[in-house]
Amino acid sequence: MIVMKFGGTSVESTEAIERVAGIVRDRLALHPVVVVSAMGKTTNKLLAIAADAVAGRREQALDLLNQLHEFHQRESEELGVDDIVSVHFQELAELVKGLAVMGEMTPRATDAVSAFGERLSSLIVTARLRKLGIDAVHLDARSVIVTDGRHTQAAPILAETTTRLNATIPPLAAKHAVIVMGGFIASTENGVTSTLGRGGSDYTASIVGAGMNAAEIQIWTDVDGMLTSDPTILKNVYRVKQCSFAEAAELAYFGAKVLHPATVLPAIEKNIPVRILNSRRPEVEGTLISSKAVDSTSPIRSIACKRNITLVNIVSSRMLMAHGFLRRVFEIFDRHETSVDMLATSEVSVSLTIDNTQALPAIRKEIEEFADITVEDQQAIVCMVGDNLRHTPGVLARAFAALNHVKIRMISEGASQLNLSLVVSAEELAGAVESLHGEFFAAPDPAAFA
Ligand code: ASP
Repeated sequence: MIVMKFGGTSVESTEAIERVAGIVRDRLALHPVVVVSAMGKTTNKLLAIAADAVAGRREQALDLLNQLHEFHQRESEELGVDDIVSVHFQELAELVKGLAVMGEMTPRATDAVSAFGERLSSLIVTARLRKLGIDAVHLDARSVIVTDGRHTQAAPILAETTTRLNATIPPLAAKHAVIVMGGFIASTENGVTSTLGRGGSDYTASIVGAGMNAAEIQIWTDVDGMLTSDPTILKNVYRVKQCSFAEAAELAYFGAKVLHPATVLPAIEKNIPVRILNSRRPEVEGTLISSKAVDSTSPIRSIACKRNITLVNIVSSRMLMAHGFLRRVFEIFDRHETSVDMLATSEVSVSLTIDNTQALPAIRKEIEEFADITVEDQQAIVCMVGDNLRHTPGVLARAFAALNHVKIRMISEGASQLNLSLVVSAEELAGAVESLHGEFFAAPDPAAFA
């Protein structure tokens, strides 16, 4: 069995779903369980409708709701699912009315609204596959994926989920060629609809893959796989053929948008390979992510970047050796729910980066009571990731020689020793990435890159 997950753009229209059907048809022998996201940007639209309703913008909410209904109706024309699509929109309209009356949006209500995207897309994709002659059957993900009650960010209860998956999927698979279910949506033990958090369909795919001991989890997206750098910065980047889970997690964290680190966890634990593929170019092999470290002559797998970073430098105005300084600093960031990305310290100072600056004025005021603080916005993180970093002497020398024209604001080597991160000003980002890429990927190892 394999799990094939298709993201929002892969199922955004009839044409796109037809492409999906072709891809699935070619893999019927592998017994696919197909996990789909909401069509296109449906989840954002649903949340916008709810926000309008709660804020009393009745007209806007109704307009958007009608547009979404028309869109789903159009995309499911001639599939024989009109009635069921209409019933879903009636239910959604009731819910939206309720929100308008209450004037308040609870996390539980947010889940009830946002779940409609995947509820609908999974029905429509099933019907389209059937129309195209593929024996597909729909499975309501909410009946098998069980979570705790932390609505909008619910965590799966893996034991119960695995039991339900194993009781449900094999009998369905014995009768049908393909099982289709929505990603992202789940339900609590009491049967209340919950969701796994934004982007949660990948998570669903890996929960299902892990629970069913799948041979492979395929994440079908709109890119060829992981790349050696950000293609919006550099033109000549290469596809990473294979990387380790640890490398993938570091890259995801630093903004390589292909995969969320939490997604990989159930797959890592069960050692199930994950493959990133492009639904517009299914012939490309994509990137295989597995627990194995990859043998290659290149010390670096990829160079990721994160823009819109703010650098905060804090220097203790107290004497040397005073303990508790870092605790005090981080306690303030914690209280203001501001997460810190990168960190470098000396005895009396600490530099750190944040990307959410909402609470910064308040944080600054508190820190000024015991330290000097300076803030620089318009910064960027450049993060070199590779399992081989720690084994390969001379990588730092090569990196810094390549960057001799760039002013480096901060340096940090992660404890995992597979990433080396630098902060540079936003202006210097493109130049820095270009130089590093030129240095490390001048002659890419064909075994690892394409
Ligand atoms: N539809 C959900 C979202 O947009 C989940 C997903 O696509 O992974 O966040």
